[in-house]
Amino acid sequence: MSVLSVHTSKSLFDNPIEELKYVGKQRGLLYRKLGVTSIGELITYYPRDYDDLSEPTTVFSAIDGETCCIKVKISSRPKIIKTSKDKMVITCTAEDETGVIKLTFFNNKFITNKLVMDKEYLVYGKVICQYNVKEMQSPQLLSSNDSGHFLPIYSLTSGLTNNMLRRNMRDALGMLPSDMSDTLPEKYKQEYHLTDLFQAITKIHFPITEADVISAKRRLIFDELLHLSLGLKLIKDDRSNEKSINIERSYLDEYLKCIPFELTNAQLKAINTCMDDMLYGASPMGRLIQGDVGSGKTCVAIALCHSVIRNGYQCAFMAPTEILAEQHYNVVAQQLESLGIKVALLTGSTSSKRKKEIKDALAVGQLNLVIGTHALLTENVVFKNLLLAVTDEQHRFGVSQRAELISKGCNPHFLIMSATPIPRTLAMMLYGDLDISVIDELPKGRQKINTYFIDSKIRVRALNFIKKHIDSGSQAYIVCPSVEDNDNNIASVISYYEKLKTGFFKDYSIALLHGKMKPAEKENIMSDFSAGKTKLLIATTVVEVGVDVPNATVIMVENSERFGLSQLHQLRGRVGRGNKKSYCILVSDTTSDQSKKRLNILCQTTDGFKIADADLKLRGPGDFFGSRQSGLPLLSIASLSDSEMFNLAMSACEQILNDGIEKPMFSHLRAEIKRMFSSLNKG
Ligand code: ADP
Ligand code: MG
Repeated sequence: MSVLSVHTSKSLFDNPIEELKYVGKQRGLLYRKLGVTSIGELITYYPRDYDDLSEPTTVFSAIDGETCCIKVKISSRPKIIKTSKDKMVITCTAEDETGVIKLTFFNNKFITNKLVMDKEYLVYGKVICQYNVKEMQSPQLLSSNDSGHFLPIYSLTSGLTNNMLRRNMRDALGMLPSDMSDTLPEKYKQEYHLTDLFQAITKIHFPITEADVISAKRRLIFDELLHLSLGLKLIKDDRSNEKSINIERSYLDEYLKCIPFELTNAQLKAINTCMDDMLYGASPMGRLIQGDVGSGKTCVAIALCHSVIRNGYQCAFMAPTEILAEQHYNVVAQQLESLGIKVALLTGSTSSKRKKEIKDALAVGQLNLVIGTHALLTENVVFKNLLLAVTDEQHRFGVSQRAELISKGCNPHFLIMSATPIPRTLAMMLYGDLDISVIDELPKGRQKINTYFIDSKIRVRALNFIKKHIDSGSQAYIVCPSVEDNDNNIASVISYYEKLKTGFFKDYSIALLHGKMKPAEKENIMSDFSAGKTKLLIATTVVEVGVDVPNATVIMVENSERFGLSQLHQLRGRVGRGNKKSYCILVSDTTSDQSKKRLNILCQTTDGFKIADADLKLRGPGDFFGSRQSGLPLLSIASLSDSEMFNLAMSACEQILNDGIEKPMFSHLRAEIKRMFSSLNKG
C-alpha cells in the first residue's frame, strides 16, 4: 500500500471559500475565477509583490516620480468637480509638519466619506511635482496604524480589490490554529535553516520587515520543491512494489539486421540498459531516454518493441501529433513487417470502421504493435497482453496519462523519450519518478549545422541560397510564427506562402503546413514532402518536434526572436538528419540586446544541453518547463530555475526517505504531498 494513503485530518482545504467571513456566493465566484475554491487555497494564494509602508517619508522629502508612503492629515474638505455626466474629479489637500500635498481621485464618489478633516492616513502612491505643487493621483488611503508594514499585492480579477483580499486573508489566517502542526520536524528546520511553517504562511502575506519576506519565501519554496520531489519518488517506489512480467530473451541481433545503419554506442547502451530492466528488473521499467535532436531515439524504442513482440507480447507507441505518429508508423512498418510483425496506426482521424478492426485485433492479440496519438488513451482500447508502452516526446504526456494506461488493467514497462535536454539536477527532480538514460552521441557522418543570424534586409540572399540547395536536389523549410495576419510585424505563414508561391518560388513545388489544417490534409502534405515531391515547406511550429526528412538541408526561421532557444534548437534539428551539410538561418530585426544575445548562442553551439542551460538563465523556466509541468502539480511559489533551493530540497528529500517517510513525524508532510498530487487526478 502506498505510504501516501494515510488518513488525513480535516483541514481548511475542506472549507469552501464561501464559508469565509464576508465572502458570499458572489465574491466566492470571483475567487473561484482565480482558482481559489477553499479557505486553504486562499491561504496559499501568495502575494505577487508588496506595498512598502515600512519607512514612511515626509511631504518635504517625497521625490517627483517616485512611489512613496507618507503619513498625513487631511487638511481641506474634498472638492468635487463634475467633468461630464458620470465623470468627476475629487481633490483635497493633506499635510504633515513639512508641507502640503494635493490628493486627487477620479470617479470615486465614496472616497469623499473618507476624506474627513484632520483624519490621519498613510497615503501610498506616485508623487508628481509640478510648479512646486506636490500631488498624488489615486493614492491608496491606508489606516495610519499600518505604518511599519509591508502590505501584500495580489493578482486580482475584476470585482476584487487588494483591500478585499487583504481583509479576507486576515480572516482566513485567523482561522489557522496557532499551534498548527508543522510538516517538518524540528531537526530538519534547523539543519536547513528554515522558519516555522505557521510563521512562513502568516509572514508571506503580512510581513513586518523585508527579512520576513525572505525567510517566509525560502521556507515555502523549499516545501513546494520538497513535496514535488518526494511525491515523484513515492510514485516511483509505488511502482517498484508492482509485479512485473519479464521478457525471456533479447532479439536485438535480428533487429540490427533490418536497419540500414550501425547503431551508435550510445544507442546500444540505452537499448541494453532498457533490455536489462525488462529482462531482470524486479519491477516494471519506467525509464526516460534523453537525447539531443537527431540522436536516434526512435530506433532505440523500435529495437525494444521488437524484442518484446518476439517474446510474445504487445507494444504501444504514442506520439504527440498525428504527423509524428504517421511518420513513426511508416518507419516501423517498413522495418518490422518484413519480419512478420503486425503493426497498425490509430489516430483521431482513423475511420471508425478501421478503428473497430484495430481494436478487435488488439484485444485478441492479432496485432503486435499499435502506433498512435492520445487516441490510444481516450478510445477504449483493450490489449490482450500489452507489455511495453513507449511515449515519444514525453513532455506532452503527464504522470496522470501514464497512470491511465496502467489503469487499463495492464502493468506495462514504460519507455519515455524526450528531446528537451535539461540540466541533470533538474531532470532528477522533474523525472524523479523515472530512471534516466542519456544518449550523448550523434550518429556518425553528421555534420555541424551552420547557423546564421541575419536581418530581413538580406532575406533575398537567403532565399536565393535556399533556391540553390533545392536546385541541387535538397529540400528546405521556412518557419513562421503565426498562422494568420493579425499583427503586421509578424510573418503570417499563409500570406508568406502566397507571396513566395506567386513570386520567388513560382517555378518550384512548394507547400503550406499549419496546425489549423485538417489532419488528413496535413498528412498528405507531410508525406509529399517526405517523398521529395515537395521541395519547400512553409510551416508553423507543427514541424517542431520529431519530423524526420533527412533530405532537408536548410531551415529558415522568420521572426526568430519570438521563439525560445530550446524551441529553435528543436526546429534546427529538422535539418542535418542525413549526411549532407545543413544550414539554419535565423531571421530577426529585433533591436533588443537580450534577443540578439540569445540568437547568437544558437549560432555558437549545437549542444542541446548548453542551449537549455542558457535558455534557463536568460528566460527562466517559462514555457521550457511549462510542458513538463502540465503533467505535474502546479507550483505556486517555487521557480524551477532556483537551483540553490532545488539542491537543498533534493538533499532533504533523500534524507527523509532514508529516515523513513512512513514514520509518524512525517504524517503531516505525507498529507501535504497527497494533497498536492491529488489535484492531478481531479483535472
Ligand atoms: P530523434 O532522436 O531526434 O528522435 P530519430 O530517431 O528521428 O532522432 O533519428 C534521426 C535520423 O537519424 C533518422 O532518419 C534515423 O533513421 C537516423 N538514424 C538513427 N540512428 C542512426 C545511426 N546510428 N546511424 C545513422 N542514422 C541514424
Ligand atoms: Mg524523435
